[in-house]
Amino acid sequence: MTPIPAAAPDSPHEAVAEPLSLAARAATLTAVFIPHARFGAAGASVWGWGLGWVEFGLLAGMYVLSALGITVGFHRLFTHKSFETNAVVRFVLAALGSMAVQGSVLRWVAYHRRHHQHSDTPDDPHSPHHAGGRGLWGVVRGFWHSHIGWAFKPDPVNLDRYVADLKKLTSVRAADALFPLWIVLGLAAPAALGGVLTGSWAGALLGLLWGGLVRVFLVHHVTWSVNSVCHLWGSRPYPEKDHSRNNLLFGLLAMGEGWHNNHHAFPSSARHGLRWWQVDASYYVIRLMAWAGLAWKVRLPAGRPAGIVA
Ligand SMILES: [Zn+2]
Ligand SMILES: [Zn+2]
Repeated sequence: MTPIPAAAPDSPHEAVAEPLSLAARAATLTAVFIPHARFGAAGASVWGWGLGWVEFGLLAGMYVLSALGITVGFHRLFTHKSFETNAVVRFVLAALGSMAVQGSVLRWVAYHRRHHQHSDTPDDPHSPHHAGGRGLWGVVRGFWHSHIGWAFKPDPVNLDRYVADLKKLTSVRAADALFPLWIVLGLAAPAALGGVLTGSWAGALLGLLWGGLVRVFLVHHVTWSVNSVCHLWGSRPYPEKDHSRNNLLFGLLAMGEGWHNNHHAFPSSARHGLRWWQVDASYYVIRLMAWAGLAWKVRLPAGRPAGIVA
C-alpha cells in the first residue's frame, strides 16, 4: 500500500459558498427520496407480475457491475489514480463504467477532476451551492443543477486538458471510442440472459426493462446523489476545504462513494470509508483485486488520520 499525504491544495478555494439553510437542505433531500420511495413501492406492487427473482437478479447484477465500473474504474482508478493495474483490467473497467451511461470515460473523468479542482466554487461543474441564487426557487435550481442539470450544459472550454495523461493510454482511448457499443451491450446482455433463463421473448423484454433501463435509472440517480446530497447532507470530519459530506445511505448505495468528505480530504486514497464501520464496497473490491495480483500501488492516507483503524 502506498501512503499519500492529506489533500494537497491544488487550486485556490477562496470562493466556496456559504452552506444552505436546514430548510433548503431538507427540501432537496425530499426531492431525492421521493423517486426512490415510489420506485420501491412500485417494485413491491408488481412482484410476481413482471418482476421475479430472475429480473431482480439481473437488476442487482447489472447494478453492481456498472456501478463498480464507475466507482472503482472511472472514479478511483482513472480520475484519482488511487491504484495501478494492467491494460486489460483498465479496458474492462472502462467498458463496465460506460454501461452506466454517464458519458464516455474521458469526459466523465475530465468533469470529475474539474469538480475536485474547483469544489463548491463557481467553476465547480456541479455544485448545489452556486447555481441557484437565493430563496426556495434558488434552492430548487441549485439542487436540479447539481443532480442532473449540469449534464445538459455545454462542456467547459478546454475540458480535454484534464485528461491528457489518460489519452496516452491505448486501452482507455479504445474504450472511450467504443462508448456507444458499451451502452448497447449493457442493455442487450440482461435482455439475452432474461430470454435464455426464462426461455421466452417476454423474459428477454423484462430482462431489458429491469437489468437495462431500470438499472440505468437507479445507477444514475445514486451517482448523481453523490454530487447533490453528499454536498448537502451528512457529517464533515474534515471541514476545511468545501461542503462535501459523509452520508451513510449513499456510502451503502453508491458502493462507498458516500464517504464523500473523507474523499475530498484524501482524493487519491483508494479507501473512502476510513473508519471500520464506514462500509466501502469499492475498496473491498480493490483489496480483492490486489490480492489476485490485478491491482498494485494501492494508495491510502499517510499516517493515521482521525478514525482510521486499519
Ligand atoms: Zn464532491
Ligand atoms: Zn473524486
